[in-house]
Amino acid sequence: MRNVVIIGSGCAGNTAAIYAARANLKPIVVSGHEAGGQLSMTTLVENFPGFPEGINGPELVENMKRQAENFGAEYVHGAVLDTDFSARPFRLNIEGEWTETRTVIIASGASARWLGLESEHKLIGHGVSSCATCDGFFYRGKKIMVVGGGDSAMEEANFLTRFGSEVALVHRRGEFRASKIMLDRAQHNPKIKFLLNTVVEEVHDASKHLVTGVRLRNVKTGEVWEQDVDGFFVAIGHIPNTKVFKGQIETDAEGYILSHGGARTNIPGVFHAGDVQDRTYRQAITASGAGCMAAIEVERFLEAEGL
Ligand code: NAP
Repeated sequence: MRNVVIIGSGCAGNTAAIYAARANLKPIVVSGHEAGGQLSMTTLVENFPGFPEGINGPELVENMKRQAENFGAEYVHGAVLDTDFSARPFRLNIEGEWTETRTVIIASGASARWLGLESEHKLIGHGVSSCATCDGFFYRGKKIMVVGGGDSAMEEANFLTRFGSEVALVHRRGEFRASKIMLDRAQHNPKIKFLLNTVVEEVHDASKHLVTGVRLRNVKTGEVWEQDVDGFFVAIGHIPNTKVFKGQIETDAEGYILSHGGARTNIPGVFHAGDVQDRTYRQAITASGAGCMAAIEVERFLEAEGL
């Protein structure tokens, strides 16, 4: 019987593990399919406090993991395949083996939605990004492209005009999902150029490990052309990793966990941390803060239950 199982090993899961381990709860952390979470796919992180020169994303999460292990956290490779939260102790199927636990922290994150191009995939962290707040700074005076037609795309395009010499916003339709106010703001920004009814066919140049440009196609006219780009930002939404909890944990229509205050879910003893619940901030530091909150709540829950 475990005191706490932490599902996910990004900033939220690792920070929860540090706190839970220091509270002597001997947590186990299920690493998940994307061990290290979204930071494991980035390069330099310059906005995590404490690193004046910045730190590489993979190194940052690895440091967190080692810190948690130093206090006795145990990491298990693989994913949670099934859950039973209907009674306590809770039961989790970890790679085919059922484990019983008094509490659970769900820190399974949200994955950025990508276009699905092979060239895009190869250049993630090398000019292809899903986070303007994280990576915009690297493109001062450079040519930036943003893909998407929702609020995220408008917000990111506006934000990126602080850095880029120009920002091209590529959207596959002529109509927008974005709210009027966000769209207006982007349309009135002289640095943003809209490319509508346009799709990205390829991101160059995977062989140079660097984004140099894209091939675009107008879906109405069929015109195909090349355009120089230095920073390529994909803002077409996120997918919360909650499939395995479906029907047990309350989520909104898109699958984000609904918070019942603090780090609490609808099930006492099951807590949330990080992007799996947060559709607004999505930062390494906010995920870490949420992981800390969840671990403190676990500690108090176990104490209150006399466990
Ligand atoms: P979203 O509203 O779902 O919009 C996604 C956009 O990406 C859509 O325009 C969609 O095109 C496009 N898209 C999806 N898959 C694509 C693909 N494979 N290829 C090309 N384009 C693709 O997502 P979001 O913008 O991330 O917003 C998510 C939620 O967060 C929304 O509720 C939004 O209001 C909220 N949000 C709010 C703020 C704010 O208020 N400050 C900021 C960001 C987000 P189609 O339209 O053609 O489907």
